[in-house]
Amino acid sequence: TPKSPSRFFSKHCRGFAPQNISGNESPSVYKELPEHFNFASDVLDKWSQMEKNGERASSIPALWWVGDQGNEVRWSFEELGFLSRKAANVLSDACGLKKGDRVIVMLPRIPEWWLITVGCMRTGIIYIPATTQLTANDILYRLQASKAKCIITNDTLAPAVDSVVSKCQFLKTRLMVSEGSRDGWMDFKELLKAARGDHDTVKTKSQEAMTIYFTSGTTGYPKMVEHSHSSFGIGMTSTGRLWLDLNPSDILWGLSDPGWVKFAYGCFFSTWIQGACIFTHSMLQFEATTVLNCLSRFPITSFCGTPTAYRMLVQHDFSSYKFKSLKHCLSGGEPLNPEVMERWKSKTGMDIYEGYGQTETVLICSLCKGMKIKPGAMGKASPPYDVQVIDENANILPPGKEGDIAIRIKPTRPFCLFSHYVDDPEKTAASERGNFYITGDRGIVDEDGYFWFVGRADDVILSSGYRIGPFEVENALMEHPAVAEVAVVSSPDPIRGEVVKAFVMLSSNFASHDPEKLTKELQDHVKKVTAPYKYPRKVEFVQQLPKTISGKIRRKDLRNKEWGRT
Ligand code: ATP
Ligand code: MG
Repeated sequence: TPKSPSRFFSKHCRGFAPQNISGNESPSVYKELPEHFNFASDVLDKWSQMEKNGERASSIPALWWVGDQGNEVRWSFEELGFLSRKAANVLSDACGLKKGDRVIVMLPRIPEWWLITVGCMRTGIIYIPATTQLTANDILYRLQASKAKCIITNDTLAPAVDSVVSKCQFLKTRLMVSEGSRDGWMDFKELLKAARGDHDTVKTKSQEAMTIYFTSGTTGYPKMVEHSHSSFGIGMTSTGRLWLDLNPSDILWGLSDPGWVKFAYGCFFSTWIQGACIFTHSMLQFEATTVLNCLSRFPITSFCGTPTAYRMLVQHDFSSYKFKSLKHCLSGGEPLNPEVMERWKSKTGMDIYEGYGQTETVLICSLCKGMKIKPGAMGKASPPYDVQVIDENANILPPGKEGDIAIRIKPTRPFCLFSHYVDDPEKTAASERGNFYITGDRGIVDEDGYFWFVGRADDVILSSGYRIGPFEVENALMEHPAVAEVAVVSSPDPIRGEVVKAFVMLSSNFASHDPEKLTKELQDHVKKVTAPYKYPRKVEFVQQLPKTISGKIRRKDLRNKEWGRT
């Protein structure tokens, strides 16, 4: 068997080996998937072997975790391998779980998160990540929808689980990762200590289910999205690898919550595929000063944030921080305003490389090192995806025309696309049109192949015959110093049908300004920097914007309020 992961990929995935991929390749590159694939044995254990052979710098851990008290955990690939085998034994022996069983993993960023998910891969158990911000009702919805046999969480969330457990007939086992104990719950840390250290990773088919993710629920109830072993484990050798651009001496910190897919593409799989180090901080809530301190104190080379995080960071004074090792900054999950990019650059000298993805697709477009940056664009299609802008009849539209952002799925469905929405064949079918999977996002591709985000299909505003994308108006408003955050939606109007309305959160130093004057000023500003018909005819100042638990603006809530819908 080949020793290093990259040799594995070149042997088994001919034509798919990272070095063979260029932006223009046809979808046929992924014809040769290996029959079996498992990220734990085919990638992680290979790195562990390389470490032993002295072929990977031993000073750089695979996982570097920092706690709130400054306490640290550092594991090499070998330690990670040993402990995750023990975790696999906990899941199959103590918890009685079998290949194909489903487990909800609802944990904050603690080292055990990686042991448990890698343990699931080793046993073929399907893990379902969930964010720790869920309420009892959210947990109930997820337990019932997924029919999970086991839930793994901590002492903070265990009471919420217990409050709904009587309604979850499929749930057999509750496993807690904490210092204390609790009735009805097994104790992961104790079990891990006692578990055997030997475990043979089960054989998993490339196309078999590895994980199920719930979407963010920005537009409705969160959907269950199934991904196979090869989807992340092999798919990200292309998509995530090119975007993150790491090597085994790099240390990447991704801010995303482990409950969302951005965590999978923004730090987990893509990082370990490249043999680099995952850095993480236990931070329960985003704190700008913690982030700035960590970037100064630790030799972090690559940083992946969200637009919201960057928006908050650039409000700070950077003069007392020095990011000695940082060389690559990335953002994804929401559109990044050019204004924020510019402010970050003026403070750090670095550009932000944007990625665009979904739970269903993982990375669809990205801006990679060496590409020309066009502020406001999401980069180019991530190979192996063939991304197009299409019309309502699934015809490919020429550059410059707005349409639905779509991924070609015929004749061959890309293996890195989700397998289906679990238990929902109708929704799965509804996501397809002709030869394409439709993302539900509207966009434009330019002559150079760069994609520009217009908005979610439902968020586009139709006013006096014009189609107006909220993102462009938001960008224009963000350029004004009074605006800290903003959401633009449609609002009813007796003459025009719909008009543009902006909900604006003011920067602190503008809070006491006269709202009427400010409204006029913001409107004039938009008319100046973009086509005047897009200016917000209505402006409302708010203290807060409605967001999903993953921090995305819920424009739908604002729109419903405007239109008197519930
Ligand atoms: P739901 O599907 O449940 O309504 P959701 O679409 O927000 O929720 P996710 O899969 O977490 O769930 O988010 C994917 C969406 O996030 C994309 O379809 C797109 O609308 C948005 N998005 C992600 N990255 C970017 C980006 N770089 N630029 C613009 N939009 C982005
Ligand atoms: Mg979605």
